[in-house]
Amino acid sequence: EPALSIRGLTKIYGNGFHALKGIDLDVAQGDFFALLGPNGAGKSTTLGIVCSLVQKTAGKVSVFGVDIDKDFARAKYHLGVVPQEFNFNQFEKVEDIIHAQAGYYGMPMREAKPRAERLLKDLGLWDKRKGSARMLSGGMKRRLMIARALMHRPKLLILDEPTAGVDIELRRSMWDYMRRINREEGTTIILTTHYLEEAESLCRNIAIINHGEIVQNTSVRGLLAQL
Ligand code: ADP
Repeated sequence: EPALSIRGLTKIYGNGFHALKGIDLDVAQGDFFALLGPNGAGKSTTLGIVCSLVQKTAGKVSVFGVDIDKDFARAKYHLGVVPQEFNFNQFEKVEDIIHAQAGYYGMPMREAKPRAERLLKDLGLWDKRKGSARMLSGGMKRRLMIARALMHRPKLLILDEPTAGVDIELRRSMWDYMRRINREEGTTIILTTHYLEEAESLCRNIAIINHGEIVQNTSVRGLLAQL
């Protein structure tokens, strides 16, 4: 079964705006997948629905075969999510934010501690763990959200514009890190971006979305061959 399957997904916001016009999408297990499109295309809406942050108007979404309408609690275990906005308590300590995540997923502390250490070290946050999250730079906050999303070893990692506003050097190191978890841990990754360069450098498959419709769904190689 695919890591993510979307059928006929439609979203009409309260003001009557049709943000998604019945999209279909499949992302295979182990894939590194880009949802590429300009601002306002419907990328965040799509991911928001998958994570149950946004309510859909119609359509069906399954995560590793689990219909999110039937059993979101189970689907949630497969999902790690990094939204665009910082959504942690800035006044909490970095390590507390990470450990709390383990708590939500019922991870025992003896498992959570080494996992947190590994992630904080890999993401360049180990030295900051005792400090408040408020003290972190923007790039570090982004990495804190990545570490938190990976704590419970999700099979599918969803990143909404992970490198927006991040300088080029840090962007490259984040790219290397994402490639590594895709390759070494077999984590399926879906990211949204409006940089073709990012999709091209990282991803195997790509869907291009515009005005709430998928206008192209192909391999990155196939797309580049057309240009
Ligand atoms: P993207 O992530 O591709 O930039 P979004 O999914 O955030 O696009 O938004 C798609 C469209 O839906 C945009 O035109 C946006 O203005 C509109 N939109 C997003 N949220 C709302 C909302 N709460 N109410 C009305 N329109 C919205």
